[in-house]
Amino acid sequence: MKIVILSQDASLYSTQRLREAGEQRGHEMRIVDYVRCYMNITSHKPAVIYQGNPLDDVDAVIPRIGASKTFYGTAVVRQFEVMDVFSANESQAISRSRDKLRCLQILSREGIGLPVTGFAHSTKDIDGLIEIVGGAPLVIKLLEGTQGIGVVLAETHQAAKSVIEAFRGLDANILVQEFIKEAGGMDIRCFVINDKVVASMKRQGAEGEFRSNLHRGGKAEKIKLTPEERSTAIRAAKAMGLRVAGVDLLRSNHGPVVMEVNSSPGIEGIEKATDVDVAGKIIDFLEKNAAKGKNRDRIQY
Ligand code: ADP
Repeated sequence: MKIVILSQDASLYSTQRLREAGEQRGHEMRIVDYVRCYMNITSHKPAVIYQGNPLDDVDAVIPRIGASKTFYGTAVVRQFEVMDVFSANESQAISRSRDKLRCLQILSREGIGLPVTGFAHSTKDIDGLIEIVGGAPLVIKLLEGTQGIGVVLAETHQAAKSVIEAFRGLDANILVQEFIKEAGGMDIRCFVINDKVVASMKRQGAEGEFRSNLHRGGKAEKIKLTPEERSTAIRAAKAMGLRVAGVDLLRSNHGPVVMEVNSSPGIEGIEKATDVDVAGKIIDFLEKNAAKGKNRDRIQY
């Protein structure tokens, strides 16, 4: 097959591993910087042009779209869909997952376990917002944050009020969440491909840190999931319409709760922690599913 990896950085571990796994299986792999593509959107001969030439006869694309390039990146993926090229994740599903609130709303509609969450932009009723999640201690998040930046634990009502007021002054969207203390600074990343969890790891935050992000000194290790955790991860990916997803869970007293569903989950951390050939499994999935006419998003939100 001719497979295009849509990535802005050919030197990234994930990009390299996908290329390597594809080549090992005898495919022609090409890394394409999607922001440098341009498109012909006429009805009869839609095309994606890269380095002066149309990308012809592509069988499948693997989008690895950076969060800050979602708009243009998903347009390129959509153009491949118009050309009836199979994508590891559909453009719609990628856009959907990039909006954290939309993501939580979709998961709640499906009845999937979530931390009790309120969200607001500039409410004056801060006490009411705090009340939704059952009072302090609670977690406040800036919607635009990544890698744990903008995630604050407020231990008292007064602290929560001050932080919410400060965020309100920033004109930001904020999310207020029940603090899952019993998670003990650990979260679980489940790598889901085509409705199966192919690998899972736990990430434990540094001593005294409630955030488990590896960028904040967290450590990753392989973990065995409970059947409930496994089915929660699969349902979450499915609800988002993602065929390839990284689902982050916390172990709470009321069962697994989903924190986030990622449409371009990193491959390095999970392969190193679990020894599973995750990149190879993505290629295997494309081999089985890239037949024409498979592009159809069925989620309505
Ligand atoms: P980001 O997307 O910036 O990584 P997250 O929302 O994933 O932010 O939060 C970062 C980390 O903080 C999580 O991986 C988790 O370990 C911890 N965390 C986030 N929300 C909660 C919560 N409600 N209860 C307990 N821990 C949490």
